[in-house]
Amino acid sequence: MVHGFSAYGRLNILNKLASQEWDILVIGGGITGAGIALDASLRGLHVGLVEKADFGSGTSSRSTKLIHGGLRYLKRGELKLVQEVGRERAILHANAPHLVIPVPMLLPIYKGGSYGYWVSSMGLYIYDWLAGVKRKEHRKMLNQREVIKREPLLKKDGLKGGGLYYEYRTDDARLTLDIMKTAVQYGTKAVNYVEVTQFLYRAEQVIGIRVKDWLTGHVTDLYARKIVNAAGPWVDGIRKLDDSLRGKRLKLTKGVHLVVDHSKLPIQQSIYFDTPDGRMVFVIPRGKITYIGTTDTSYNSLVDQPRTTKQDRDYLIHAVNAMFPEVNLSPHDIQSHWAGLRPLIYIEGKNPSELSRKDEIFISNSGLITIAGGKLTGFRKMAEKIVDLVVNQIQSSVGRSLASCSTDKIVISGGERMNKNWKEGLIQRGQNRGINELTVREWIELYGTNILEIYERYDRIPKHTSERSLLAQLQYSIEEEMTMNAVDFLKLRTGWTYFHLSQAETKAECVLQLMADLLKWNTDEKHSQKKAVEQLFKQIHEFPDEVESL
Ligand code: FAD
Repeated sequence: MVHGFSAYGRLNILNKLASQEWDILVIGGGITGAGIALDASLRGLHVGLVEKADFGSGTSSRSTKLIHGGLRYLKRGELKLVQEVGRERAILHANAPHLVIPVPMLLPIYKGGSYGYWVSSMGLYIYDWLAGVKRKEHRKMLNQREVIKREPLLKKDGLKGGGLYYEYRTDDARLTLDIMKTAVQYGTKAVNYVEVTQFLYRAEQVIGIRVKDWLTGHVTDLYARKIVNAAGPWVDGIRKLDDSLRGKRLKLTKGVHLVVDHSKLPIQQSIYFDTPDGRMVFVIPRGKITYIGTTDTSYNSLVDQPRTTKQDRDYLIHAVNAMFPEVNLSPHDIQSHWAGLRPLIYIEGKNPSELSRKDEIFISNSGLITIAGGKLTGFRKMAEKIVDLVVNQIQSSVGRSLASCSTDKIVISGGERMNKNWKEGLIQRGQNRGINELTVREWIELYGTNILEIYERYDRIPKHTSERSLLAQLQYSIEEEMTMNAVDFLKLRTGWTYFHLSQAETKAECVLQLMADLLKWNTDEKHSQKKAVEQLFKQIHEFPDEVESL
C-alpha cells in the first residue's frame, strides 16, 4: 500500500509541501522528475514534486514504449553508451519485471537498405556483447526463407535475410507512475495539477516556487534548498521564468504513433524496418492491436498540445504499405494514435534525426538546476547525476548523513516477487473470486503484484454490486494513484484509449458515474468531466492539417 498518494489526501499533501522548507523541489512528474524524486528520497533527502497536469502526461506517455538496448548508438560508434544502456535495461527489468518485458525484434535486411547482412550480423553480435545481453536473448541471423516464414507479409523483393534480437517493451505512463509511487513510499511528497508559475528569490538565489493548484485555483509558495527543473519539453519555458534561457536550448521534434487492429497488421513479433525516405520505423504487436511509429519532424507549435496531423498519419501508412504490400492500410483503419515531443538539445545545422538523445544539465546564476534531453531508458542514470550534484551542493547544510545512490537495487512498486509462479498464482486468485480471466491478465500487466490491493477492495464490495471489478479498480486508482479525472483513468492509468479504444468508449459512462460517486463531484464537475471525455474521444477521431507554427 502506498501511503500519501491518494486523491483524497491531495490537498493535505499540498499543505504539507507549503509547511516547511524542502531539501529539493522537483518540477515535473514525468519519468525524469519521478526518477530524481525516488533517488533523492532513498538517499535521505526531503523531497517535494509538483506536476502541472497528470503524472506522466507529457512525453513520458507518448514514447515508442521501448526500453532500448542502444542499437542505434552502436551505429554511431558510441560504444560506451551501448554498454551503459544495456546495463540500465537489465537493472530496470530486474526491478520492474511487471513493466519491462523482453520481446523479440526482427530487423529485415534488404538490398540497398540501412543495414547489410554481414554488417548487421557483426553489429548485433557486438551489441549483444557490449550490452551484456543474456545468452538466451542473443541475436540470431535468419536467411530469406526463415524471415518469410516468420513474417509472410513482409515485402519479398530485395529481401536478403534478417536479424532477430531483443528489445524490452514497457508501458511508459505506468512505469512513470510506479516509479512515482515508489518515490512516495520512500518519503517524496508529490502532487498533480499544480503548476509552477514563478520563482522566488533571496539575494538573487532561487529559494522557492509559486505554484497554482489547477483544481482549486489556489496559489501557494513552496520553499527548498535546491530546485530542479525536470519539465521535459517545457524546460526552456521554466528557464525563461528564471530569466536564464541563454546558451544551449531545446529543439523539439514531434513523433507520432498510430494504432491499428492486430488483424489489419497481423505480425508475429515487433519489426524495425526502413522507410522509403531512409528512416527507420517500428511496428509492435500488443494484445489485440499493432502500433506503428514513429515520425521525427521539427516542431514549433504549442508544447501543450502536439497533434497527429493528416501528414503524420499518411507518412506512417505509406511506410507500412511499402514494407507490407498486401496490407493496404488506409486512414479508416487507424483506431487510435498519440503524438509526443522529444526534448532534444539544439545543435545548429543538424536535422532532427541527427540530434543527440543525450541529456545535459544547466545550472543558472540563480542556482536553478535544469536537466534536459535524455531517454526513458536512461532516467535512472540521469537522476543519479542530478542527485549527486544536489548532494554535493547541500550536504554540509543538511545536517544529516546522506546515503549514496541505491536505485539499482530498489524494486519498483508492483514488481515485488513478480516471477512466473507468482503470475500464475495471481491469475488463480482472481479466478477463485470469479473475476473474468481477461480482466485479471490485464490487471497483472497494469499493476503487477499491486493487483492484490485491488483484490482486497473487490472482496469488500458487496457481491451483487454491478461493475464490481471496475469499481475495485477505480477505488485503487483513486486511493493509491492520485487519479483525479476520468480522462486520466481512461488514458494514462489503464492505457485503454491507446490500446483498447472500444473498451474505453464502452466503459466511459460507467467510469464517469462511479468516479462522480467516489470523488463526490457536484453537477458542474460532472458536466466538465463528461465534456473532457467527449473531447478526448473526438480528438482521437480527428487528424488536423499541419498545425501553424508559433
Ligand atoms: P515529460 O514526460 O514531458 O515530463 C515533464 C513534465 O513536466 C510534464 O508532465 C509536464 O506536465 C510537467 N511540467 C511542465 N511545466 C510544468 C510547470 N510549470 N509546473 C509543473 N510541472 C510542469 N525513450 C526511450 O527510452 N524509449 C523509447 O521507445 C522512446 N520513444 C520515444 C518516442 C517519441 C515519439 C518521443 C517523443 C520520445 C521517445 N523517447 C523514448 C524519449 C522519452 O519518451 C523521453 O526522453 C522522456 O519521456 C522524457 O521524460 P521527461 O520526464 O523528461 O519529460
